[in-house]
Amino acid sequence: MTHAPMSATDPGIPARAGHDGARIRSIAIVGGGTAGWLAASMLARALGGTGTIITVVESPAIGIVGVGEATIPPIIDLLHYLRIDEADFIQHTNATFKLGIKFVDWRTPGHAYWHPFGTFGAPLQRRPFHHCWHRARAAGLKLKFNDYSACAALGDAGKFRFPERESGVAGAGLRYALHFDATLVGRYLHDYAQRLGVQHLERTVTGATRRADGALEDLHFSDGSSFSADLYIDCSGFRGQLIEQVLHTGYLDWTSMLPCDRAVAFPAASKSTRPPYTQSLARTAGWQWRIPLQNRDGNGYVYSSAHVTDQEALEDLQAVVGNAPLAEPRMLRFVTGRRRQFWNRNCIALGLASGFLEPLESTSIHLVASGIYHLLEHFPDRNFDPANIAAYNARVIEEFETARDFIVLHYCLVEREDTPLWRYCRAMALPASLQERIELYRGTGRIRTRAADLFSDLSWFYIFSGLGMNPEGHDPLLDAVSPQELGPILASLAAATGALVRAAPPHDSYFGKPLASAAPARAFSGSPTHRSA
Ligand SMILES: Cc1cc2nc3c(=O)[nH]c(=O)nc-3n(C[C@H](O)[C@H](O)[C@H](O)COP(=O)(O)OP(=O)(O)OC[C@H]3O[C@@H](n4cnc5c(N)ncnc54)[C@H](O)[C@@H]3O)c2cc1C
Repeated sequence: MTHAPMSATDPGIPARAGHDGARIRSIAIVGGGTAGWLAASMLARALGGTGTIITVVESPAIGIVGVGEATIPPIIDLLHYLRIDEADFIQHTNATFKLGIKFVDWRTPGHAYWHPFGTFGAPLQRRPFHHCWHRARAAGLKLKFNDYSACAALGDAGKFRFPERESGVAGAGLRYALHFDATLVGRYLHDYAQRLGVQHLERTVTGATRRADGALEDLHFSDGSSFSADLYIDCSGFRGQLIEQVLHTGYLDWTSMLPCDRAVAFPAASKSTRPPYTQSLARTAGWQWRIPLQNRDGNGYVYSSAHVTDQEALEDLQAVVGNAPLAEPRMLRFVTGRRRQFWNRNCIALGLASGFLEPLESTSIHLVASGIYHLLEHFPDRNFDPANIAAYNARVIEEFETARDFIVLHYCLVEREDTPLWRYCRAMALPASLQERIELYRGTGRIRTRAADLFSDLSWFYIFSGLGMNPEGHDPLLDAVSPQELGPILASLAAATGALVRAAPPHDSYFGKPLASAAPARAFSGSPTHRSA
């Protein structure tokens, strides 16, 4: 059966005169997972009033990946950007608060360290506090990490509070993100986008026609119909229905430095109170997550198929979780890496279609949002200026690769050598960009930052320090502060953190009652921060 071609470019919309004649009038987003509906929501918010028609094409036959439950702090800015009420979102997605990630058994079995959100201590001599930390350690002072991180201290106490201006030096450094139910978030964003006028087509894309210049002309559906738009966004998941299957963009495989390539995941009843953080537990062939939601836990084991079988991974996860799965375990395969280009001609890939960094630092959903922010900064017309596309690609590639380096850092600095995977990680070849950061830190305690860094210098410090890398030197500017002066400064910071934690309510106390008073509306800054700490 052949249907007449459909077009998202409504003939009823008058073409504007002059320079506006080449403007993008229609956008087709292929994929109705988190990436597709998030892209649709953000574009509908940004392009509202321009007459641009946005259509999400979603296959009724192909499911979503259905995992992706932990986020990083820019999620809060994103909700504000979308003008979504935070309390309403939390209620409808069974969300809990996340103050960071606690890594257990990574450095050595039995050891734990934090990657908390937010700041650490307070600057001294205009230098970030981690320099003070190195200086104090060199002077022989004994320091406790949680005395200087409000997020880690609250997390270990099972408590949570919102950052508020009046909460002093310790509270000023608080940041938080959310854990949520990925399926409920998909539904929430679907409803949100449709309220903003996004169209929804339930069709399976089987191919596309290309124009003489190689750009996409129209999509072909399994029912024989077709559909055309000016700009295509590929959110079709790992398969990359447009960016790879049609445009053959190519993929860079990073498995040699991020060897985990599979995951098994299932929800289960919570065993305890809900901790306000993600737990990442190193295992023989990878790591397991525990993500607490209001009504259950999300659990998963991310592993290297070269080092454990699927069945062994599932049994290991079941043994650690203890409680029976509340749904059939999902077995997932992936290749860590990225497309050679994220934007190819008139097609932009987002989400799993664009590449995948394994979920150790909960970066994927953020990278979808970040891809849209960058698209808005480089929004094209129908001439698709190659220089504009190149600028977008350069920025997004740098963001992906600096995030990759950050995740590789967690693996390559481990001290454990008890299984083949960990021995491999200690010996594997590292990208030069990461090697440079490690060398600089090892010698001086300084963190080399890059413009596209998603993770701040403090986040890098948390991982270096948590994995036991102590620099050989410290910032000489801190020698101006004597150990006698340092003592009282450190004591007053520790006292401020302690007072903040004592006054905070238990994390569990936020759920089961309306959150409106707990999640006060905070003004959106206007320029979303991409940094996690
Ligand atoms: C093990 C694991 C754990 C993760 N944990 C996290 C985490 O904690 N935090 C985080 O931020 N991210 C996480 N992620 C990533 C996160 O799940 C994804 O980034 C997010 O769900 C977006 O997925 P997606 O929408 O790109 O793809 P999918 O969810 O796979 O959606 C693809 C969509 O495309 C449609 N589609 C596919 N082919 C066609 C076709 N031919 N025609 C029409 N439609 C089509 C499908 O119907 C579906 O709607 C994790 C991923 C994995 C694998």
